[in-house]
Amino acid sequence: MKNILKNFLIFFLILAIVSTILGFFSSRNDSTEEVSIAKVVQQVKDEQVKSITVNGNELLVTLDDDTQEKSKKELNQSLTDLLQNYEVPAEKIAAVDIVIGEDSDSNMFLTTILPFLIPGLFIIGLIWFMMRQVQGVNNRAMTFGQSGAKLADDKRKKVSFKDVAGAYEAKEDLTEIVEFLKHPQKFIAMGARIPKGVLLLGAPGTGKTLLARAVSGEAKVPFFHISGSEFVEMFVGVGASRVRDLFKKAKKASPCIIFVDEIDAVGRQRGAGLGGSHDEREQTLNQILVEMDGFDNQTNVIVLAATNRPDVLDPALLRPGRFDRQVVIDMPDIKDRLAILKIHAQKKPLEKDVDLQIVAQRTPGFSGADLANLLNEAAILAARENKKTIDNKTVLDSIERVLLGRERKSHILSDKEKKITAYHEAGHALVAHLLPNADPVHKVSIISRGRAAGYTINLPKEDKKMQGYSDFIDNMAVLLGGYAAEKTFFGEITTGASNDLQKVTNIARRMATQYGMNEKLGPRTFGKKEEMVFLGKEIHEQKDYSEKTAETIDEQMSIYVKNALDTATKTIADNKDKMEKIVAELIEKETIEKATFEKLLA
Ligand code: ADP
Ligand code: MG
Ligand code: ZN
Repeated sequence: MKNILKNFLIFFLILAIVSTILGFFSSRNDSTEEVSIAKVVQQVKDEQVKSITVNGNELLVTLDDDTQEKSKKELNQSLTDLLQNYEVPAEKIAAVDIVIGEDSDSNMFLTTILPFLIPGLFIIGLIWFMMRQVQGVNNRAMTFGQSGAKLADDKRKKVSFKDVAGAYEAKEDLTEIVEFLKHPQKFIAMGARIPKGVLLLGAPGTGKTLLARAVSGEAKVPFFHISGSEFVEMFVGVGASRVRDLFKKAKKASPCIIFVDEIDAVGRQRGAGLGGSHDEREQTLNQILVEMDGFDNQTNVIVLAATNRPDVLDPALLRPGRFDRQVVIDMPDIKDRLAILKIHAQKKPLEKDVDLQIVAQRTPGFSGADLANLLNEAAILAARENKKTIDNKTVLDSIERVLLGRERKSHILSDKEKKITAYHEAGHALVAHLLPNADPVHKVSIISRGRAAGYTINLPKEDKKMQGYSDFIDNMAVLLGGYAAEKTFFGEITTGASNDLQKVTNIARRMATQYGMNEKLGPRTFGKKEEMVFLGKEIHEQKDYSEKTAETIDEQMSIYVKNALDTATKTIADNKDKMEKIVAELIEKETIEKATFEKLLA
């Protein structure tokens, strides 16, 4: 609407300018005197006139003394007729040189046709502009159906398998895909059916997108990148047509890769019917399946898709002939973390004393993206402190920064708060140190970080893929160590323990309801999770057990928590001297590192 108005104004302005110019031209010879027709007739009778030029209804009279004057006659009457009507003798008329002006036609045009033409033009112009507007809207509406898939441009540095650290199995599996893209004939000759779809499964940040790019880089084929959520945009009904458009483009560029990132956005189980965009997703998903089924052996297009939620995917996606290859990308273990850190350290000026091995040790549970972020944080920190290089302390600091948030040195605790925090953290650390299955202490601190007043970092000895009953029990005791210490030494509890309590409750619930670790409840799970389809959030847990069982679950959870608290309290009560040692050191130094801590308790 705004645009129409704007164009309208522009048109109007042009019109105004044109008419001003026209007006200027039509009144150009104002310098000559304007006289009445009667005077001209008289002058002719008096034989003073040399010539008369006729321009439409305008007369330009040149007298014998070469002065000029202007006059007007009626439009449709010839000058000769006019003079005869005024009874000018024929020989006197003949004596006057009558010239019919060349532009009498255009003058006629100006005076007679233009008045009609201008409004006409104006209306035509208006219609034209409006049509253009409407068409513009139409054009935009048409592009909604287009895929918007981005073809990775060649200028960007090609990613290869060398840029992806770790993930050996995944790379091995994908090497095969690279082969398919490079030498399809080899496989077709064997009568083999080249897989059409490969699903990359892995936690967020494990490098799925990176690997997909690497495949296209290795095979040197075009790479169409689209995110599942882009299929499901504002307008209903475009998802399917986008899919069609994307596959059409890809087939033209074959051999190539289509990469559908976050496919769970469209590939969730159909018929799970929650949420408005549900039909739309279903159609989009169907279209993807139809397109993939439509590939013949000559179309060398491989669809890579990534998700971190394989559990919610529609089984139809996974059947043979569709995404039948599944490549799992694991969280990196210590060896892989070191390799990832090395890749990302390449372009950063690290000092010689930075030991990436230690960084890798201290970052269990970090994904590739977390590690890249860690080194980036270190670089930012170093730059902010105007350093030329990144030193060891900065790198180690950024681990905690990524884990727990920034250190808040300005957040000063009162002496009493400091004392309580010291006992609380010492409680965690002591229990962690003494219980056989708890993760060992790496660092204890009473400097606030993020929202915590103090913190204790305890890391598993090695990367664990599985946890057993005793691990949970001991770690629950560690979590309650702070609570137990506050209660033992001060007789009351502060709000500082609330986060610990949440974690403990969570572990207790999972032990009872998910892992089948409770004797009384037996080896089954309790509660079925339903998800909000379009937000991917759990909205409620469907209760698939009776009220009576619910009571038992509560009861068993309480027993777990109580046992853990008893263990923590007993450990602290039996080792009050050690507690005092840790507290004294904490209040003096604020932070204790692993080595010092172990020496202190030896
Ligand atoms: P995902 O798609 O699995 O969520 P990405 O592929 O987007 O994760 O990874 C994010 C970033 O993390 C990458 O751009 C890269 O810098 C880094 N990264 C992740 N995994 C690795 C890896 N194995 N090797 C090197 N860098 C990695
Ligand atoms: Mg990704
Ligand atoms: Zn705590």
